[in-house]
Amino acid sequence: MSIFQKMLVAPLAGVVLYSVYLAFIYDEQKASRQAIEEIRAVYLPLLELSGRNVLLFDAIASALKDAVLAGEIEWVQNTRRDKAQIDDNLARLQTYAPVVTTEEATRIQENFQRYYDNAHALAMILLGENSDTARINELIENVERYHGQAAADFDRLRAELLERFSQRIDDTQQRLRRQVLIAAALGVVLIVVIVGVTFVMSLSTRKALREVNLALRNMAQDKPDFSRRLTRASNDELGELVGWFNLLADKLESDHKQIELLSITDKLTQLYNRTKIDELFQLELNKVRRYGEALAVILIDLDHFKSVNDTYGHQAGDQVLRELAGILRSNLRDTDHVGRWGGEEFIVLAPNTDLEQASRLAEKLRAAIAGHAFTEVGGRTGSFGVASHHDGDDEDTLTKRADACLYVSKKQGRNQVVNETALPIGTI
Ligand code: GH3
Ligand code: MG
Ligand code: MG
Repeated sequence: MSIFQKMLVAPLAGVVLYSVYLAFIYDEQKASRQAIEEIRAVYLPLLELSGRNVLLFDAIASALKDAVLAGEIEWVQNTRRDKAQIDDNLARLQTYAPVVTTEEATRIQENFQRYYDNAHALAMILLGENSDTARINELIENVERYHGQAAADFDRLRAELLERFSQRIDDTQQRLRRQVLIAAALGVVLIVVIVGVTFVMSLSTRKALREVNLALRNMAQDKPDFSRRLTRASNDELGELVGWFNLLADKLESDHKQIELLSITDKLTQLYNRTKIDELFQLELNKVRRYGEALAVILIDLDHFKSVNDTYGHQAGDQVLRELAGILRSNLRDTDHVGRWGGEEFIVLAPNTDLEQASRLAEKLRAAIAGHAFTEVGGRTGSFGVASHHDGDDEDTLTKRADACLYVSKKQGRNQVVNETALPIGTI
């Protein structure tokens, strides 16, 4: 996944989840509105019926009273219409069970019926000719009792329905508020998570970029560490960058090694060149001075080499030099250093080697050269000068003594090893 795609993941997830969140809120609101509509559909007719009953009941009571006062028997009969209406209303209320229970409606109906029967009978008696006082008193008593009960029933029913109605509406609205709150809390958590994910991703990208940055800075320095590689932690553009960096480092490291090798190697013989020998000389001299170890120098010069060139040509001469380098290399220890000192002269630095040991080594080399059949040219010999380190020696004094020994070797007839003991006293 590319960095671009990774950076898009969190915001896109945010948009998707936020849309879900909005859809959820919208749905909840719709559901609440619908629930309120349903509650209204149930309760409003009930409230209307129960309210009308209260009014009708009052109307009956007033009508009966007015009828008695006015002496209108017809008005008494007219209350039957309102009574039938109340009965009908109570029957209709029962169809909304369980909001209004059958027992409740029946009880109200019975109380009302008792009131009406008594009130009606009382009105009829009061409007009639003969009046039985005892009967009247009984009826008045009943009417008072049942009127109170029925009025209370009608009022209570209306009040309870109103109470239940507003309770249901409140519950629904509260439920919606709770859902919206929960959704809002989830939204906050979502934002925190998205910000967190983006932050962590940015941190890891910054860390990887910093590493590449540092690694590139190291490469641009005077003495870079070409062995340094980066770990590819992702498959995005940064991972690709790290991959290319490592590849570039591989190439630079191998090129650098090659250049280094070329800069210290003699092209013809593949031995160390003069520059490298000078450097090794200083290193060995430092060790000698610090630890008091021995150090010997052997200078080698091919005898009558000019004639090889003259007789067989320069290329044959070059081949002799290459073969000679091979002989030197194969007869020396890993700790010895051998290099081309110049032309057809070679030098061996032998650490931890005293004059006697170095002379024996030189003798071994001399014999190996003398015993070798050089391509095209045949047998050749070399002269050797051997010197060892003494206090106060440096590269110049040490090689000068070895060179003086070499000169003695040439003078004494060549193909021989001469060490510094052969030099005049006072030379060392
Ligand atoms: P001597 O025994 O006194 O050393 O005699 P020599 O002929 O070897 O004399 P000298 O050491 O002075 O000669 C060096 C010669 O080596 C001169 C030069 O032509 C030859 N030479 C030096 N470098 C090279 C090289 O790279 N290739 C070839 N083919 N010859 C070289
Ligand atoms: Mg020479
Ligand atoms: Mg020579």
